[in-house]
Amino acid sequence: DSYLNPNYTFDNFVEGDCNRLARAAGFAVASKPGVTSFNPLMIYGGVGLGKTHLVQAIGNFMKNKAANKFVLYVSSEKFTSQFINAIRNNSLQDFMNFYMQVDILIIDDVQFLSGKEKTQETFFHIFNHLHQSGKQIVMTSDRPPRELEGVEDRLLSRFKWGLTADLQTPDFETRIAIIQKKAQAEGISIAYEVIEYLAHSIDTNVRELEGVMISLLAQASLTRREIDVELAKNTLRHLVKDSEKEVTIDTIIEAVTEHFKVRIPDLKGKSRLREIVLPRQIAMYLAKELTNLSLKSIGYHFGGRDHSTVIHAIQTVNDLMDTDKDISSAVNKLLKIFRK
Ligand code: ADP
Ligand code: MG
Repeated sequence: DSYLNPNYTFDNFVEGDCNRLARAAGFAVASKPGVTSFNPLMIYGGVGLGKTHLVQAIGNFMKNKAANKFVLYVSSEKFTSQFINAIRNNSLQDFMNFYMQVDILIIDDVQFLSGKEKTQETFFHIFNHLHQSGKQIVMTSDRPPRELEGVEDRLLSRFKWGLTADLQTPDFETRIAIIQKKAQAEGISIAYEVIEYLAHSIDTNVRELEGVMISLLAQASLTRREIDVELAKNTLRHLVKDSEKEVTIDTIIEAVTEHFKVRIPDLKGKSRLREIVLPRQIAMYLAKELTNLSLKSIGYHFGGRDHSTVIHAIQTVNDLMDTDKDISSAVNKLLKIFRK
């Protein structure tokens, strides 16, 4: 058992600026394991950005190409618990022998080796043996090697022998492509409008994006409703309530419209009346303060305004906060609702 999941492939790993180098390095390694200078290959990045997917894709690619090669994927936790069992059962030599036979060792989330000195020592010996024999080693970590605390220096310096590449948060266009790819894989069609809404609203990581899509599909089939922006909004709102997660643009808009007694369509509409424009600008300001959304995304949620309009709104509110007591207390009150 190599613990490989055949669903993770290069084909369904969407390429974007956020992952181009890591993906290319992964593909080079998969095509010529052990012989490129990318040994070890170290992929790092935050949670849900595709580390496991990418390294599993490397493993699957190699396995399909050369069935006789021993490709092994293992999480660092699993490696550690196997090691502890081996100690307990007096079978450390078997454990070492097993790992030293591997042609391609993929070890996921090495940050979990931190502080585990004996496990690290054993991994160090396996690493050296495999590397000297021209076998490929692929690792992932949630942070760059230099920030791995509690990992021995001699091991860290080995990690830096090959190539280190990071995975970043996908940009808007890549998020669109990922949603389209997932929808296609599920065999469903989603209107572009909905895809754009999701891509604008979820800019944390791919796992979160997938989670929302799964809930959305479930909602649609349970309620026999069409997948439209309204349903997508509902789904997001439920998810936020369930986990008491971050503030969303919609909860901000709700709070602002309630406070200023204006209607949501007005806030998103074209009105130039001061009693509408000011709440709209305050809502944009709050969105910038309270969410990670880009200026472009914020503009999108306010009737498709462009980012310079958003910048102007933020500046205006900033200025008013200094000069107008009523506005400053209203804004602070709204901020407090979300920051409690
Ligand atoms: P990590 O290991 O970095 O926490 P995962 O590899 O588990 O992240 O990715 C989380 C989810 O997002 C997986 O279902 C994965 O298939 C998907 N995913 C991540 N990046 C991409 C991408 N570039 N293209 C398609 N799916 C992706
Ligand atoms: Mg992972």
